[in-house]
Parts: sequence; C-alpha cells; structure tokens
Amino acid sequence: MHYNIDPSALVNIPCPSCGEKTAVSVATIETSPRLRCEACGAMYAINARKVMDKLQAAQEQAELERRRRGV
Ligand SMILES: [Zn+2]
Repeated sequence: MHYNIDPSALVNIPCPSCGEKTAVSVATIETSPRLRCEACGAMYAINARKVMDKLQAAQEQAELERRRRGV
C-alpha cells in the first residue's frame, strides 16, 4: 500500500502504559521502531501499518472536506 503522506510530518504516539505522547516522524514510523517512553521508561513497539492506516484515513477525510467546500 502506498501512503501519500509527508514523511517529515510528526505524529504523536501515546505510550500504552501511561499515555504520554511522543512525537515521531512518519519516516521513522514506517520502520516500525521501538520507542522508550520518556515519562515512564516503558518500551513499546509502533505498529506502523495501524498508525499509517489511521493517518491515511484522516488525510482522505480532510481531502473530502476540502473538495466539498470547493464546490
Ligand atoms: Zn509511558
């Protein structure tokens, strides 16, 4: 699946343990990295596919909105 998303865009990923958000670039997310939460020290893996699907859906929604306003 091709994602039409700016690779330098930052996404806030919430820690599954404490909810603290860490800003990660799209380019980094695509590598499915493991993150360490700075607030509680928990290690967690990013599910790249899940995050990217969500971003893609949000972007498509925004695109639809834009088009609707355009006409
Ligand atoms: Zn945490």
